[in-house]
Amino acid sequence: MTPDTDRTDANLALFERARRVIPGGVNSPVRAFRAVGGTPRFITRAEGAYIWDANGQRYIDYIGSWGPMILGHGHPAVLEAVQKAARDGFSFGAPTEREIELAEEILRHVPSMDMVRLVSSGTEAAMSAIRLARGATGRNKLVKFEGCYHGHADALLVKAGSGLATFGHPTSAGVPAVVAQDTLVLEYNNLSQLEAAFAAHGSEIACLMIEPIAGNMNFVRASVPFMQRCRELCTQHGALLVFDEVMTGFRVALGGAQSLYAQAIPDFAPDLTVLGKVIGGGMPLAAFGGRCAVMEQLAPLGPVYQAGTLSGNPVATACGLATLREISREGFYDALARQTRTLIEGLKSEADAAGVAFSADSEGGMFGFFLLPELPQNYTAVMKSDGARFNTLFHGLLERGVYVAPALYEAGFVSAAHSDEDLARTFEAARAAFRLLTK
Ligand SMILES: *Cc1c(COP(=O)(O)O)cnc(C)c1O
Repeated sequence: MTPDTDRTDANLALFERARRVIPGGVNSPVRAFRAVGGTPRFITRAEGAYIWDANGQRYIDYIGSWGPMILGHGHPAVLEAVQKAARDGFSFGAPTEREIELAEEILRHVPSMDMVRLVSSGTEAAMSAIRLARGATGRNKLVKFEGCYHGHADALLVKAGSGLATFGHPTSAGVPAVVAQDTLVLEYNNLSQLEAAFAAHGSEIACLMIEPIAGNMNFVRASVPFMQRCRELCTQHGALLVFDEVMTGFRVALGGAQSLYAQAIPDFAPDLTVLGKVIGGGMPLAAFGGRCAVMEQLAPLGPVYQAGTLSGNPVATACGLATLREISREGFYDALARQTRTLIEGLKSEADAAGVAFSADSEGGMFGFFLLPELPQNYTAVMKSDGARFNTLFHGLLERGVYVAPALYEAGFVSAAHSDEDLARTFEAARAAFRLLTK
């Protein structure tokens, strides 16, 4: 190899080529490394807990495709199911038995759902759940929380209005103000804002949508009293409580985050649940569901229209079903949660040893860490994290073969394939990376 080709960065070459034909060189913005700087890694393959980039560099993968890869990459049983399904046909545009099997498997684990509709992305599922909530209640307004992400439907790309309980403004060009005006954006875990919003607009609110453990502002739990009040106010005012469990569903526990709140709050259940990520096992698959009375409002039974050419795709359902069968084995989540806790405890002790302020939390196979002494409770507190310090840590880890999310407001994920050796190697990388912050 000549010194010239030696110096060639295949990731950089691909990024330059990608930028000529794909806006920003990526098909989803966070992949572009804008927040952390540097060149995105172009991935060529993955196996177990590892991904390899175009330079042949291996990384321990703590993103797992942003959550779906709970079994690690290329699990043999999942691979076999996908290969068999592909041989039988990619797509029919007609019903299949596997869709029923996947629906039954989902409903078996999430008792708040009697029926489910399968779609292709979390965005589509959340958007459809909102339309259903609006159709079922005959109301237009929706409540969401700052820092929660529910996909990029127009009504959701909204930031808070200027005063308490005032309606929002678009955060994206191309979203009409009239669409944003029906969305009320509140602070996460803020009880008094919640009370004020329902006092002012209760009879107009179709639904309250929430990430029960918010993974799109790193990792922030809704407090139990806050969640209980969300449930009570929705019930009292006839609004639907919609749990966006696209990230947490089958990730923090077999029954999702709602199973954890149901342990703490008597008779707790959301009215609608939105799922994605893990239920597709890495294939484009998502879902939304709830009680029969609400779900029967959907076409072809009811007046709320919703459809999809590739919905319930046979290869995607095979992948999701094989994944769910593996993760519903006895003891799966105990082991996953233990490994994830070991990870954050190990990172914490490396940070302590280096004298770096650090806090972290985890549930099941999902975790978050902050370069802050205390865990934040809302988006404003999350954003007090020092971006420059996070970027130094991120690149310090990446250079040492540890791939975490390239933004401080994203959660991380551990899979069943992450071994004790992978964790030990991660701690070693973290030891060196944390020292970069104290220089
Ligand atoms: C990822 C995510 C979505 C969007 O799902 P896509 O499949 O990316 O459209 C929605 N809600 C939450 C909580 C998510 O984490």
